[in-house]
Amino acid sequence: MITEFLKPKTIIEAVQLKQATPDAVYMAGGSWINSSRSAMNPETVISLNELDLNFIKQDQDTLRIGAMTTLQDILDNDLIPDYIKDNLKLFRNRNIRNQGTLAGAIATKNPAFSILTVLIAAGAKLETPTEEISVEKYVTSDCSALILAVRIPLKAAVCSNKHSITARGVSLVSVAAGVFEKQIHLVVAQDGGKIERLTDLEIALSGASLSDRDELAEKISKAVVSFDDYRTSAAFKKYIAGVMLADCLIKAAKGV
Ligand SMILES: Cc1cc2nc3c(=O)[nH]c(=O)nc-3n(C[C@H](O)[C@H](O)[C@H](O)COP(=O)(O)OP(=O)(O)OC[C@H]3O[C@@H](n4cnc5c(N)ncnc54)[C@H](O)[C@@H]3O)c2cc1C
Repeated sequence: MITEFLKPKTIIEAVQLKQATPDAVYMAGGSWINSSRSAMNPETVISLNELDLNFIKQDQDTLRIGAMTTLQDILDNDLIPDYIKDNLKLFRNRNIRNQGTLAGAIATKNPAFSILTVLIAAGAKLETPTEEISVEKYVTSDCSALILAVRIPLKAAVCSNKHSITARGVSLVSVAAGVFEKQIHLVVAQDGGKIERLTDLEIALSGASLSDRDELAEKISKAVVSFDDYRTSAAFKKYIAGVMLADCLIKAAKGV
């Protein structure tokens, strides 16, 4: 149960509070912290509410999205590129989109949260008090720095999708593909498993023809390592990841 609610007024104060009370957790919208699914149950939280981190600003060809911007505000903003909006529309629960923030979703590092795959495929970056770090590095390492803003490229050929048993159900498999001048990014996340880039396949497919959907789907399925769970077999998850990601890759290669 939360028994102490700290309300820093500055970023420096927030970081100092975290250093002084390592068991305390930063709290943004609280949708995950307070969810029974997270089992976090912290006693002390450090609210980020008064840090002035709710903004969406264009900075040349990049958008800076403040850590406290909610997913619904992002979906409703005209500056946001379609590849991000398309992904957020996969997440059907408007109540949580109203409460949950972008940085909060990233900091959970949860492979079931489909927004993570699209941010990694787009090469999005995070501003923290001490450094700029890619979303990929943040979610695949033990970094837990305070996120101040997320930087996403405005023009990116990125496409994403997810598989869940029902439209509102948890994403069992989320995928995203990004096609850049010299690189392809292929990202797969599995609930209960990992969020990962298929780097060997990215290299193998660079410069290759990306038109044969069945061939691509087969290659991707082979590259995905999966596991059986009570909802879905490993074989099905490999298959569905292959099909969805092949479609995404073909769309991204055409500029979406
Ligand atoms: C039932 C349910 C279904 C969901 N389904 C989806 C889905 O389909 N797709 C999807 O993309 N997402 C999904 N989500 C995730 C949702 O996007 C997150 O719950 C939400 O974005 C978290 O944001 P928050 O502001 O509420 O975070 P909080 O609950 O406040 O915090 C979550 C975690 O992030 C940390 N944190 C928060 N802000 C920062 C920061 N600025 N810097 C560092 N650490 C920070 C906290 O300490 C905590 O560990 C779902 C969540 C729930 C509860």
